[in-house]
Amino acid sequence: MLSGEKVSKSFGGIQALDNFNFHVNAGEIVGLIGPNGSGKTTLFNVITGVYKPDSGLILFKGCKINGLRPDIICKMGIARTFQTPRLFPSLTALENVIVGMIHGKKELTTKSDVKKEALYYLELVGMSEKKDVPASLLKLSERRKVQLAAALATNPEVLLLDEPLAGLSSIEVQSMIKLIEKVQREYNISVFWIEHIMKAIMATAQRIIVINNGKKIAEGKPAEVARDEKVIEIYLGAQ
Ligand code: ADP
Ligand code: MG
Repeated sequence: MLSGEKVSKSFGGIQALDNFNFHVNAGEIVGLIGPNGSGKTTLFNVITGVYKPDSGLILFKGCKINGLRPDIICKMGIARTFQTPRLFPSLTALENVIVGMIHGKKELTTKSDVKKEALYYLELVGMSEKKDVPASLLKLSERRKVQLAAALATNPEVLLLDEPLAGLSSIEVQSMIKLIEKVQREYNISVFWIEHIMKAIMATAQRIIVINNGKKIAEGKPAEVARDEKVIEIYLGAQ
């Protein structure tokens, strides 16, 4: 569904991505883990067209997408969420979902149909009661859900999640994991998921990719990756 071959990206002297290879199959949940500053968000920025890779190839359903504009990539079927939710603060929850729909694959129909569909996505994430509340008045967990609804409203085939659990309480973490699993099943979406809560991603992903200093250092089933000496070393320090 989505893959990258030898993707590199540097910022000045910093090699954020160094010949990075990855793939995400249809309907698969793939976890991307690695220390702070290891290049995870840069990979998402390069996939979604925020940055052009310096070299390498990114393929979505066999088509090269590197170099395309973010809005085009989104329309093709790749949606993302940000660690710090990026919503329009003065727009309501519902209006923020409509913004997602505007950038999606489907042609928009009448005003009332658009509203109805946006409300459907808010319901899906359990936020319909807050539909008329401006995003600025929502708490973090609620903004995350609205952001997820807006991403789903673009009708993606691939969903990129950048630390969707960061800063949530343990109850909110559980409900967000359930929600992600539910939407993945319901739409058979491919999910590429950056996560720092090891327990959560190990239990949810079918495959984990580990990145350090822009390079892939391990990949495999969660249990395999958890036993990998290189992975243990970067997470726990040498010895
Ligand atoms: P992660 O998401 O794994 O924490 P990032 O991808 O955000 O890491 O960052 C990887 C490296 O690239 C870091 O050293 C970071 O400072 C650097 N970096 C990321 N984006 C930029 C940018 N726009 N300008 C300069 N340096 C950047
Ligand atoms: Mg990051």
